[in-house]
Amino acid sequence: MAGTEQVQDVVAPQAPDTQQEFAVENPATGEVIAHCPVVAPEEIAAMARRGREVQPAWEALGFAGRARILSRMQKWVMDHQDEIIAVIRSETGKTYEDALLAEISYGAAAFGFWAKNAEGYLADEKVKSSAVLVKGKKLMLRYRPLGLVGVIGPWNYPLTNSFGDCIPALAAGNSVILKPSEITPLTSLKLAEGLKQCGIPDGVFQVATGLGATGAALVDEVDMIMFTGSTATGKKVMKAAADTLTPVSLELGGKDPMIVLADADVERAANTALYYGMLNGGQTCISVERVYVEEPVYDEFVAKVTEKARALRQGAGAPGSADVGSMTFPPQVDIVERHVEDAKAKGARVVVGGSRGMSADPTHAGYWFEPTILVDVDHTMLAMTEETFGPTLPIMKVRDEEEAIRMANDSPYGLGASVFGKDTKHAEAVARRVEAGAVCVNDALVNYSALELPMGGAKASGLGSRHGAGGIRKYCQQQAILVTRFSTKKDPHMYPYSAKMTARLGKFFKFLYGRGSRD
Ligand code: NDP
Repeated sequence: MAGTEQVQDVVAPQAPDTQQEFAVENPATGEVIAHCPVVAPEEIAAMARRGREVQPAWEALGFAGRARILSRMQKWVMDHQDEIIAVIRSETGKTYEDALLAEISYGAAAFGFWAKNAEGYLADEKVKSSAVLVKGKKLMLRYRPLGLVGVIGPWNYPLTNSFGDCIPALAAGNSVILKPSEITPLTSLKLAEGLKQCGIPDGVFQVATGLGATGAALVDEVDMIMFTGSTATGKKVMKAAADTLTPVSLELGGKDPMIVLADADVERAANTALYYGMLNGGQTCISVERVYVEEPVYDEFVAKVTEKARALRQGAGAPGSADVGSMTFPPQVDIVERHVEDAKAKGARVVVGGSRGMSADPTHAGYWFEPTILVDVDHTMLAMTEETFGPTLPIMKVRDEEEAIRMANDSPYGLGASVFGKDTKHAEAVARRVEAGAVCVNDALVNYSALELPMGGAKASGLGSRHGAGGIRKYCQQQAILVTRFSTKKDPHMYPYSAKMTARLGKFFKFLYGRGSRD
């Protein structure tokens, strides 16, 4: 394994003396790298007032004005990519490649995408109606920004999943307050610096660093909450939002299954399972979390995955020196270990990894878990039923595709899934039976990079979605507009009611709706 070379220096924000502060650690080394203020609930209220004050001018700037700033930001991200990667790595412990591929490339693409497409998704829509009472009238649907959006994000992808949701909210004309995870606040602060340099007006984008209570206070102050995180916290957010009837969009946990059918290209399936199971140390909401393989190809699949997993290098060094980074959230190491130990106690075999790796060494202060392959697993084990969110890949043999589908759907979650088979028509038919918000055939996870395609969870994995039209319209109030351009002084159904007019209208409705079906 490669050593843990320190990533580039990070400018630590200074906490004002009067505030409580919290420490940010580099999870690859255990070193404290910064301190951030805990923004108190009353300060959230002041930030909300500030955000609301400046929002009308931001909205008035129009799509083109906002797009100019977002497009500048796309270039800023590319110009500062190494600095941003250093900040991301310093607080997450991920490899250079994971930060480049799944954070920088997403962030840069998203700035360009929303700059270009916000106007189209939010353009006024003409509506036609069959209702008699509105004949000849102009009917329109328009989207107006909600005002102040609160975004609460997780620690696994501080740019993509936390900051990323702010981009469409801003493009729609809202002010935004972002509450990043206490584990990874530095990336958001770095991007706030970028937005400032690119000309965003003061107060339109604010970062509220802090702990869970800061997030809870934010829910009470905003016009909409975009939450990404665990299902347990998502439920708390939704309950709190009910008090103020604040709309929520929730992107929650997952336990994504992969199904490998008997006719699959086993080499591709093995490479994909391993890559998307271990990417970002397995700390991806749409990681491959469990694999079901049809009997005829099971042994070949396990042999290939095992061989490839043994070759993985773990570390925090220079680009190209490691495949899998450290864990980001210290308690996550305990969760992963608990799942592996529980599986072992119930009869599973660990064929690769299975322990804390570098963090088992008392001279090493970081948080690590080895890439781990488990076989002989079943649904009595936590590793197959609860979100592990770590570098583990449990592989289960199934008799046939019916069993695979049944097992895949035997979960409270429904975020993503994948199906492998050379007969893609057949594999797609299997994919359509999996209860998940997104299913890939002969692939996994890359659907997330298609910003045109909605990404949202079924079942306990969430409410609403990001990306596509729905990914920006959720930050808007839908407003219906009706304009009567040509009119008489009084429409026939208006007061005073008369027996003659009532009889006429009755006949008219009978003519319209009372003739029954023609067959
Ligand atoms: P958590 O639910 O623990 O935290 C998410 C955010 O909520 C953090 O910023 C946290 O603050 C904040 N928070 C905590 N308590 C409250 C509260 N009462 N009210 C409001 N906000 C609160 O999730 P994790 O950070 O552990 O993230 C991992 C989870 O996120 C996994 O389950 C993963 O699957 C999911 N996820 C889902 C994605 C999706 O698209 N569906 C994408 C990425 C991750 P603090 O950190 O300061 O406690």
